[in-house]
Amino acid sequence: MIAGGVGAVGGAAVGVAAEGAPKLFGPHRLPIDGGYAPAGNPDVYSARGSVRCVYHVPTTEKLVALTFDDGPMPDWTPRVLATLREVDAPATFFLIGEHLRAYPQLAKGGLYDGHEVGNHTWTHDDLAMMDRDAARTEMRRCHDQIVQTLGRAPKIMRPPWGHMAGSTLIAADELGYDVILWSQRMPENEYVHNPSGIVDRTVRDVRPGAIILAHDTGPSDRLVTIANLAGIVNGLRAAGYKLVTVSQLLASAPAPV
Ligand SMILES: [Zn+2]
Repeated sequence: MIAGGVGAVGGAAVGVAAEGAPKLFGPHRLPIDGGYAPAGNPDVYSARGSVRCVYHVPTTEKLVALTFDDGPMPDWTPRVLATLREVDAPATFFLIGEHLRAYPQLAKGGLYDGHEVGNHTWTHDDLAMMDRDAARTEMRRCHDQIVQTLGRAPKIMRPPWGHMAGSTLIAADELGYDVILWSQRMPENEYVHNPSGIVDRTVRDVRPGAIILAHDTGPSDRLVTIANLAGIVNGLRAAGYKLVTVSQLLASAPAPV
């Protein structure tokens, strides 16, 4: 009787408080129609239950990972690959699935041998605005295209613009991915009229374990990076740095505590 009485009192109190008061918590507080969507429950509990999200690796070794996003595209991808071959430097390419489907000849035949490829989604839309099913489709289609065209499965993904949501992490976990951001972006805009300056700037800014963001397609100001790529690689090496792929860089990370 006592318990029932307490319950009745509590229920009445909640009812009174809720009347006319703003609803603080509800099932649809996020503005779904405005573009956001909740992450949703995962269908299956994954083995990891978490996703590693990395923007640099805390190491004292002078290692650096150069990354190129948004290819493959006919404008600069072949040039970037040729330059990297000349200077014998590995890089990591975050590929857009639709681009790979449109230009498989830019990737087939071992052109990416020695480099790592990662998933940069199918259409390069904003993952932060997608629910889990949409995010999963964006990543899965790109993943499958990379497997089909290159015969290898990526282990890492980079969300376009670095935008992501809880749904992104769950979808990435389903594919066993690490999510890779960056710690240093090529400052193309600042060197359009002083192209070679980008070499000194990149070498000046680099730190051990850095992940450097560049692009192998896009607006013409990015050509500053492409035109100076050999100089950038040589400059980093002259400063004592070894270029590695992102996965090689991750492997150098100290064991998690
Ligand atoms: Zn991108």
